[in-house]
Amino acid sequence: MPILRIALDVPLSTLFDYLVDENLQVKIGQRVLVPFGRKQMVGIVMEVVEKSDFAVDRIKPITQLLADVPPLAEEVLTLLRFCSDYYHHPLGLTVMAALPSRLRAAEPVVIKRELSYELTSAGRALDLKEFPKRRAVQLRLLQALSEQALSMAQLKALSSSATTQLKVLVDEGWVASCAMTQPHALAHTFNNAHTLTAEQQVAVDAVTQTAGFNPDSSLDFEKNKNQENVGRVSTRHVGLKSDQRSNGKSGFKCFLLHGITGSGKTEVYVHLMHLALQQQGQVLLLVPEINLTPQLENYFRSRFPHTELVSLHSGMNDTERTKNWLKAQSGEARIVLGTRLSVFTPLPKLSLILVDEEHDASFKQQDGLRYSARDVAIFRANQRGVPIVLGSATPSLESYYNAQSGRYQLLKLTRRANEQAALPVVRCLNTANVPMQDGLSPLLLAALSERLQRKEQSLIFINRRGYAPVLMCTACGWLSGCSNCAGKLVLHLKDRRLRCHHCGHQERVPHGCPSCGNTDLQPVGLGTQRVEEALQAHFPEARILRVDRDSTRNKGSWVAMRKQIEAEEVDILVGTQILAKGHDFPNMTLVGVLNPDGALYSADFRASEKLFAQLAQVSGRAGRADKPGEVLVQTAFPDHPLFRALRAHDFDEWAKTLLSEREQAGFPPFVFQVLLRAEDRQESDVYVFLKQAREMAKELKMPVEIYGVVAATMAKRANHFRAQLLVQSDTRKSLQQFLREWRPLIETIPAKKIRWSLDIDPLDF
Ligand code: ADP
Ligand code: ZN
Ligand code: ZN
Repeated sequence: MPILRIALDVPLSTLFDYLVDENLQVKIGQRVLVPFGRKQMVGIVMEVVEKSDFAVDRIKPITQLLADVPPLAEEVLTLLRFCSDYYHHPLGLTVMAALPSRLRAAEPVVIKRELSYELTSAGRALDLKEFPKRRAVQLRLLQALSEQALSMAQLKALSSSATTQLKVLVDEGWVASCAMTQPHALAHTFNNAHTLTAEQQVAVDAVTQTAGFNPDSSLDFEKNKNQENVGRVSTRHVGLKSDQRSNGKSGFKCFLLHGITGSGKTEVYVHLMHLALQQQGQVLLLVPEINLTPQLENYFRSRFPHTELVSLHSGMNDTERTKNWLKAQSGEARIVLGTRLSVFTPLPKLSLILVDEEHDASFKQQDGLRYSARDVAIFRANQRGVPIVLGSATPSLESYYNAQSGRYQLLKLTRRANEQAALPVVRCLNTANVPMQDGLSPLLLAALSERLQRKEQSLIFINRRGYAPVLMCTACGWLSGCSNCAGKLVLHLKDRRLRCHHCGHQERVPHGCPSCGNTDLQPVGLGTQRVEEALQAHFPEARILRVDRDSTRNKGSWVAMRKQIEAEEVDILVGTQILAKGHDFPNMTLVGVLNPDGALYSADFRASEKLFAQLAQVSGRAGRADKPGEVLVQTAFPDHPLFRALRAHDFDEWAKTLLSEREQAGFPPFVFQVLLRAEDRQESDVYVFLKQAREMAKELKMPVEIYGVVAATMAKRANHFRAQLLVQSDTRKSLQQFLREWRPLIETIPAKKIRWSLDIDPLDF
């Protein structure tokens, strides 16, 4: 009897063997139901073998072969194997986590086919030239439907009132629903809104000239496989083992599209998508967590009105996600728009990968499989032999460095696509020795008042929500600390609560100091709520809107807020990084930045890199249209290289500064790191565990640098003490070799209840 080796959602670094009736046709990648302990579990067939290490009488048969959805492609399984290997995470957990939850459940997957709409014979008989012009939306729908049947999602992209207007058309007997049986992507149309600028054209041409862009050459897998030396260079990015290298195909190439804000990177993506779709390929566009909004989805729909497009992110309900995932797997969905987890989506015709805002930290998963979706995407493009484009106005230093060294091809957009939209003037307002009012300097207040008079919009950016980061007793110096964490409780004055932003703990604001009884408790520092209040006091007439995680918590509230801003019903926006990206507010001419200084001298060596990216992005909000913008940054360190580069709009200068700092200090991208994290209620247990792991690492005597055991930046969180151990090496390869030896040793440390994890290429410390 053949033996199936199954990946199960179990935290063990092994596959599980099961017997299967030889009459059953089992495919690799198929889902199966198997007995595990007392439970029935769903797993994925990874291998079919003849022999097991266990005696046959000890191997159980599978319960059922699930054939309700097509098996996972081997290409995806290879990708998952690579991730499990590289990130040192159990294969079963890796494979199962990549599936939408419906496919992880034992129940059969039943997905209702989506309805589409088509013209009836009465509808086709209509003379649209004679159709009343005031029924504009109906006319638009009829025109679109006269070309081909469309899904509801596609109709909605044509108009936000499509649902109600379509009902009218159905009631009139002009339109009827139909089951969509054939993928209808062949009728690809492209809404070409702009002629590309010269720089954009160069970028598009560079990517389309890659051999992998042309499916005829890239799908010729066997031929390319033999050109060994071609694959070898390109697989180095993500540290592949040498024996896998020959799988790399010649069509692969990684591009870094470095374009200033407003330079039209999106237009480059759109043109590339168009060209890939024309060749019948599928395109994967990865975007950061907060950027994937219905507006973005509708934007791409409007550019490709007849193309099946799906989005995939963790916020969607299971049914929808599963449905979209299956559409991608069948090849029906031609464009997949997704956040990090969508990098694992099966895409049989994948011919191009785009990663927007490639520097964004949300591409890194912070628990479970701690992968970087950007890096996995590069591996995937290489595996498949297709080009990948990483886009950003402020690339990560890792990518920038790779572009400098020629490993990636650099494509630059140095000018704004819209000639009239000049870059904003950036100035620093020195806050040293300046009397501030509620954290606002007189010059910033004056600039705000000027905008109010000119009826232009302003944005005040501060990266802290709540009223004040901490409450303090004026008599004894007591600070509102969290009882579960090493952090402080943030004062939220609106609902009179103190909240921990780390563990979620909250309590009422005390009447007196819990330590000395004094009733004079003062908020210290600035949060969005306090700035909002201060501005309102200064400008009683101004319409102020606060945009942060608290004010946008309810579904749809951010959409409503955007509408308010666009309708110019808002004069001053106060907000956190939610506001930083991707929103064009043409009448916004001033951006004020409060309190950025903390990141300049932070213990986290990436803090200043992140700050620059944030400020460059938020600056990009000012003056997008014909009105020039101004950015005012309140800082006590106006001469810091970060602000000099920001004022000069010179990312290259800034990157040079950072790279030389990192090189001197021996930080990434010049070294490769792994962080062993541990946490437990017992502080001493954490340190005993980590010290033992450290001794084991040293005994291996391998070419890695082993640091000391230290407390995490957040030394206590949710009643767990946290500490960590950093190991780094000059090459990924030697780090991986070390990890293969070290990890099994760590697993032998008798410390069952300690939670620990390995974080490869960590971003947070
Ligand atoms: P980025 O993503 O690089 O910040 P966008 O793609 O949002 O920039 O483009 C900025 C603006 O320029 C948008 O309003 C876009 O419609 C416009 N734009 C892009 N490309 C062109 C072009 N070739 N000609 C004219 N306008 C363009
Ligand atoms: Zn006190
Ligand atoms: Zn807490």
